[in-house]
Order: sequence, then C-alpha cells, then structure tokens
Amino acid sequence: MIEKIADGIYRIEIPLPRNPLKYTNSYLIGRFDGFLLVDTGMNRKECREALYTALRSLQIDFSKLSVFITHLHADHIGLAGEVGGEVFFSKTESEIVRKMLDDPSGYWETILETYIANGFPEREAKKMLRLHPGIRYTSMEKIEFSEVVDGDEIDVGGYLLKCIETPGHSPAHMCLYDEEGKLFFSGDHVLIDITPNITWWPFLDNSLGSYLESLEKVYNLDVNLVLPGHRRLWYDLRKRIDEIRRHHRARLVETLAALDRPKTAWEIAPSITWDLVYTDWEEVHVVQKWFAVGETIAHLEYLQKEGLVERDVENGLVKYFKSC
Ligand SMILES: [Zn+2]
Repeated sequence: MIEKIADGIYRIEIPLPRNPLKYTNSYLIGRFDGFLLVDTGMNRKECREALYTALRSLQIDFSKLSVFITHLHADHIGLAGEVGGEVFFSKTESEIVRKMLDDPSGYWETILETYIANGFPEREAKKMLRLHPGIRYTSMEKIEFSEVVDGDEIDVGGYLLKCIETPGHSPAHMCLYDEEGKLFFSGDHVLIDITPNITWWPFLDNSLGSYLESLEKVYNLDVNLVLPGHRRLWYDLRKRIDEIRRHHRARLVETLAALDRPKTAWEIAPSITWDLVYTDWEEVHVVQKWFAVGETIAHLEYLQKEGLVERDVENGLVKYFKSC
C-alpha cells in the first residue's frame, strides 16, 4: 500500500506477518534527481514483494535511489543491502552491526547469559533465540554503510534532512528532520498508537535514561507531522512525548512497588502492566516474555541510577531490592 503524504513524500506499508507491529512504514522522499528510502522492512519474502511492488509502481529509477536506516532492528534494516545504492546509517550502529556479523554466536551468547542471570529460564531463553526476529530476518550480508553522526545533513531530491541521534530504543537510533517542511521521521523513537520498546542493551548503561533524554532532545522541534516507523502518523509531537513519559513513570512506580523483597527481573515482570491481553502470565508467549523482561531490566537500571534500587548477585542470579 502506498500513501502520498506530500509532494515528493510517500509512505509505503511493508507487512510484518504474525507480528504485533503489523507493518513497517517505509518512506520514499525525493523528486526527479534523487530519492531516499527511509527503512526497508525485514529480510523476508512478504516485505521484499511489498517494497519492490511499491517502488516499481512509483516508477523509481533504482540508480537514483539511496537508503537511510533509522536503527539496527530487522524490521528496519532487513533489505538495506539490496535495494539501493548508498546506505546511510549511524556510525555507532554500523560498528555494532559489523561486530554482530563477525561473531553472531558470541553476541547472542552475551544476551542469553544476561537474560538467564536475570531469571529467564534457560530452556525458554534458548527457544527464544531460535524465534528472535533479529536472528531470523536480518540480512547477514555485509553492507558498505555511509556512516552518519548526529547533526549530519542529507541533501536528496530537493530535501535537506538533518540526522538527529536519539539513543534509547536502540543504541544510536537516528531520526530525520526536514526543517523546511516541519516533518519529523521518527523511526521507532516516537510511535503513536504503541509505545516504543525500551529494553536492556549491552551498549548502553541506562537505556531508559538515554531514551528519556532523547525525548527531551526532540521535544522542542518545530514539527507539523510525525512520520513514525510503524502504524499511524500524527501531528502533535509534544503531546505524544508527554504521554510516553507518563507511561514510563507509571511503569517505574509499578517496578518499585513490586520490590516487596529482593527479586529478579523475571519475577518482577508479571507485576508490571504490559500492552498484552492475558489472564495468566504463564500463558504469555515466550517472545513477549522476553521483551517484557528486557523492558523490566531497563526500568530497574534506571531506578538503580536514580539511587532508588540496588542489586546483588546471588548464586549467579541478579536480584534487585529497594535502597533504604
Ligand atoms: Zn521497528
């Protein structure tokens, strides 16, 4: 599905089958002499077909097409290596992706160890790794990225787009801002009808803290339209940021309240309100539990940095407790 947003700006809906996100929004920006595709969907048949069908129906000259990737998740970077010429991508995340591709089992081993230390049952954690979209649908091809850093500008097809680094959802997530048109391509930094997943990362020591700072960083941008990486578009950036802040504050309160005794993140996770429909935590799918535990760790790290929570390691298990 293609939606014309403005002159020279199209939204292409890339389906994500059996995924609660439903679809990725790819944006095509530009006219005549150059086009930029923002995000691509996953490296899987359904995404590839939707993307190429849309680009062909828009009669895009592929030799004039470049790509911008907001962050390293498979639903954004999946087809980056095959669609266009130049691929713009954050310098920090380029390095992370290179390391992951050089030693994928080492990278996932570190992640697995952390989740197990936080109480995730080992068997379930191993099952999760077989299902993880980051493993199944990322291209394993090495891409020559054109690395960008905060403040860089991309001049393409009559648009001047500023790169704004917004770490939190991922280690060095990047948004694009068109100051003249007041358009904010927010990737997964600001989503409208769902809340971006803020999880534990081995590359950030306080991902929720970084995320809240990154919300502050874009709060005062002059924006008429927010174009997110998933679901619907929205005009009021500040109102949405205020809602997301309230959401995390409420979760921080729940996390603290759950600490009636020292607990692992796995034990705390069921006490927090998730955007999931279930009656019994046991029924929740392992993939959803994985994301919930990752978010719980991120909230605990934040509380620890604030001095409200401490942690101890007992028999290889990380336990959190309230500071007195
Ligand atoms: Zn995404």
